[in-house]
Amino acid sequence: MGLACRAYESNLTEWPLAEQSGWRQAVAKQWPGALLWDAPLAGFTTLKVGGPAAAVAMPASTAELVSLLALLRSHDVPWRVIGRGSNLLASDRGYEGMVIVLDRRFGAIGREANDEGKSIVRVEAGCGLAPLLQWCAAQGLAGLEFLAGIPGSVGGALAMNAGAWGEEVAGRLSAVELLDAGGVLRRVPRQELRFSYRHFELAPETVIVAGLFALPTGSGREIEEKMAAHVAARKAKQPKGVANAGSFFKNPPGDAAGRLIEQAGLKGTTVGGAMVSPVHANFLVNTGNATAAELVALMRLVQDEVAARFGVRLEPEVHLLGDFAVNPEERRRG
Ligand SMILES: Cc1cc2nc3c(=O)[nH]c(=O)nc-3n(C[C@H](O)[C@H](O)[C@H](O)COP(=O)(O)OP(=O)(O)OC[C@H]3O[C@@H](n4cnc5c(N)ncnc54)[C@H](O)[C@@H]3O)c2cc1C
Repeated sequence: MGLACRAYESNLTEWPLAEQSGWRQAVAKQWPGALLWDAPLAGFTTLKVGGPAAAVAMPASTAELVSLLALLRSHDVPWRVIGRGSNLLASDRGYEGMVIVLDRRFGAIGREANDEGKSIVRVEAGCGLAPLLQWCAAQGLAGLEFLAGIPGSVGGALAMNAGAWGEEVAGRLSAVELLDAGGVLRRVPRQELRFSYRHFELAPETVIVAGLFALPTGSGREIEEKMAAHVAARKAKQPKGVANAGSFFKNPPGDAAGRLIEQAGLKGTTVGGAMVSPVHANFLVNTGNATAAELVALMRLVQDEVAARFGVRLEPEVHLLGDFAVNPEERRRG
């Protein structure tokens, strides 16, 4: 990660118990998975901003995830599940709770069955989109090529209903496995799930554990060619070498957020280290030393300018993690 954080396996010989108390001690003693303490969230987000989370856990199985959530609930600890942090803006103040990262440890892929000529593929939430697409090409399974170049996890792509080139992840879905607030794991068929543009309606405290995709057979070479074409098209129009979270704002109905921002003359506008990309106006980038507060200030500036010019209030696509309240009163209101 390249960022200073205190990494300890939860075993008592390495864990400085004297420094810890309450829930941290309980998690360290009772939970066997990989843990980091006081870990800067900048290391877990593609925007590369964010202060420390009290703890970061990386479960390697559903059993580990279930036992961790039970422990956190019994100690009333706030938590949030994330994937690759490619659609997240984390607060400079970090997160006073447990961030649960589903990464490749939680990333198994397997064929389940065939349904009406399509293969049903079960993919755990922590699997990256890139390894999933490589696997699909090797297996000759088509349908997800539109995701090529999107740097998220399967869980994050489902939570966001990620999409590109006129397709969305929900379009290839047969079911999702969800862990609900009561700790019950359920496989929910697609027709019972509600997706919309960059949104998946999830009950509070629900974790996406796996997605099941219905994929037709295709030629491995053609799948690879299609993915390569998508990646090349992205490279041609997206900023390179600067931290970002992809499109910062959702497109308003019938229009493109990038067009409105560009027409408002905002390309290249900066607030501290945060900048409206001169390459693609809907990318707010971290030029190197931006803070989350600067990115939020730039976001508001863009929203205000576009609203004043076109009467459209742009809605962020990027999700916030942590405390962004500017005064104690706002913080109390949540
Ligand atoms: C260069 C670049 C290009 C991009 N291009 C596109 C694009 O073309 N189309 C597009 O749609 N997006 C795009 N994105 C945005 C982003 O990559 C996608 O939204 C991606 O699917 C997010 O996945 P993630 O694992 O990074 O999610 P995260 O950013 O980690 O999380 C996003 C949200 O989902 C929640 N979440 C994550 N995992 C789970 C889970 N298992 N259970 C419950 N909730 C969960 C998080 O709490 C958070 O609220 C781009 C981003 C970048 C940096």
